[in-house]
Amino acid sequence: MRKLIRGVVGYHERVRPLYRRRFARLALGQKPDALLVACSDSRVAPNIFASEEPGDLFVVRNVGNLIPRYAGRGGKPCHAEGAALEFAALALRVKDIIVCGHSSCGAMRALLEGPPVKSAAHLEGWLSHAGPVVRRFEAGSRLDAAIPRVDRLSQFNVLQQIEHIRSYPAIERLVRAGRLRLHAWWFDIAAAEVLHFEPRQGRFVVIDAPEAARLLRRFGP
Ligand SMILES: [Zn+2]
Repeated sequence: MRKLIRGVVGYHERVRPLYRRRFARLALGQKPDALLVACSDSRVAPNIFASEEPGDLFVVRNVGNLIPRYAGRGGKPCHAEGAALEFAALALRVKDIIVCGHSSCGAMRALLEGPPVKSAAHLEGWLSHAGPVVRRFEAGSRLDAAIPRVDRLSQFNVLQQIEHIRSYPAIERLVRAGRLRLHAWWFDIAAAEVLHFEPRQGRFVVIDAPEAARLLRRFGP
C-alpha cells in the first residue's frame, strides 16, 4: 500500500499537470474507441503495451477474461460482463472489442488442475462458465502444440470468448453489419509481447510493426 500511496503523490505532483485539461474534457463524457476484456492478473498491463490514454478504453477485467454466454430470452441476464458488453457496444458504440488472454494464467491452470484453494465457491462458480471451453479444448485444438498446455488453453479460451460475445444477438447484428470488429489478443508475459490471432495462419502472431501494418491495411481507413 505504501507504494500505491507514494504513487498517488507522484501522480499529483508530476502527472496531473499534464493530464488536467484532458480530464476536464473527459468529465463531460466518454467516447472510448474500444472495449477491452482482459484477465485481472496484475502482470497484464494494457496501459503499457497498448499505450492507452484516459478515455481510450472501456475495460472489463475478471478472472480468466471470461464473458458468459448470452442468457437467452427465458434466462435471467444478471452478470456484470454482459452488462458491460451491452453498454459498450450499444450505448457507447465502440467500434472494436478486444479479448486479451495471457501466458501462465492462473484461471486456465485452475481449469486444468482444479482450484488453487479450497472453500472458494465463488471462484469455482465463476470458472464453471469456462467448463464447456475446457471440454472443447480437450476434444482437440489446432493451436500451437509447441507452447505449454496451459498457454494453449489460454489462447483457445480467447477464441471461445469471442464466440461467447457473438452469442449476444445485438452484438452479432453489429458484427454482421460491419459496425463492430472482434479481436483476439494474447499477452506473452515472459517475452513481454502482444500477439493477435491471425485467422489465415490459424495461430497467434506477434504484433510487430510489419504485422500491425498488415492489420491496419485490412481494417481500411
Ligand atoms: Zn489470467
